[in-house]
Amino acid sequence: MSNSTIASGATAYVSHSSCGMHDMGKGHPECPARLAAIQDRLIAAGLWDYLLHVDAEPATRAQVERVHLAPYLDELAQRSPAVGTVQLDPDTAINAYTLRAAYHAAGAGIRAADLVMQGKAQNAFCAIRPPGHHAERDKSMGFCFFNNVAVAAYHLIAEYGLQRIAIIDFDVHHGNGTEDICAGDERILMVSIFQHPFYPYSGDQPKGSNMLNVPMARAATGQDFREVVSERWLPALRAFAPEFILISAGFDAHLEDDMGSLGLVEADYAWVTRQLMKIAAEFSSHRIVSLLEGGYDLSALGRSVAEHVRVLTGE
Ligand SMILES: [Zn+2]
Repeated sequence: MSNSTIASGATAYVSHSSCGMHDMGKGHPECPARLAAIQDRLIAAGLWDYLLHVDAEPATRAQVERVHLAPYLDELAQRSPAVGTVQLDPDTAINAYTLRAAYHAAGAGIRAADLVMQGKAQNAFCAIRPPGHHAERDKSMGFCFFNNVAVAAYHLIAEYGLQRIAIIDFDVHHGNGTEDICAGDERILMVSIFQHPFYPYSGDQPKGSNMLNVPMARAATGQDFREVVSERWLPALRAFAPEFILISAGFDAHLEDDMGSLGLVEADYAWVTRQLMKIAAEFSSHRIVSLLEGGYDLSALGRSVAEHVRVLTGE
């Protein structure tokens, strides 16, 4: 869809074909099929045609350097292979297309933020991989290379002068990378839930007063999640009065996702999205950009994203 047809009030779907070419090897759960599963389900749900489909542009090196150190970016480029894969840690590997995908994934959040700030879309979902919330300032880990949500946050601060950005993270894993980058910056409030104790074994001791980390025991249910959101997240978000809401949207806390042991279902993702839409309506002129993080059971991922996006479209 060309830019001229983009209307305000719509939900943008920002992605790029390169995100399907990053591949960490046969059997790896963070696989290209995740994006295909999301697309299939959005088509089946009748939502696909109602979204504003926008191609991401790659983030610039300067945009990524707002949150990552230059030597780290140089090292990634040096280790990027022409063929095959290079293992960076036991979970995380780089192939010939990884960095191109990573720059486009980070660029998707920037493109989405621009569309929303410029009134060309009301909100946006970024269908991207590699994910980002484990990537620290100078370290790739947990399937993540660039911290996409942090890149988007600091783009909003640098380009639009925003002073209060909320980052919501409902992935089953703690967003240690986002905390590493954003802790102590009072322009950002990060609220999260995560299974604990569980990979990456952090988050129980927040690294800054702008971090509202809520660890959850294994087998916690959707009802438990809703109580945390109602009693902890929403009062903090209202007190913060965000000008923009960014979501680290991981769907691996789903009951059917074997990666974690929490019990959320599609209705819980729809519900939390509705709560965040209300906060956005009240404080941030409806501005929300959601970026895909985890979610590894392909059916549950597709169904959960469809419900999340359905609520974003206002249905
Ligand atoms: Zn995760």
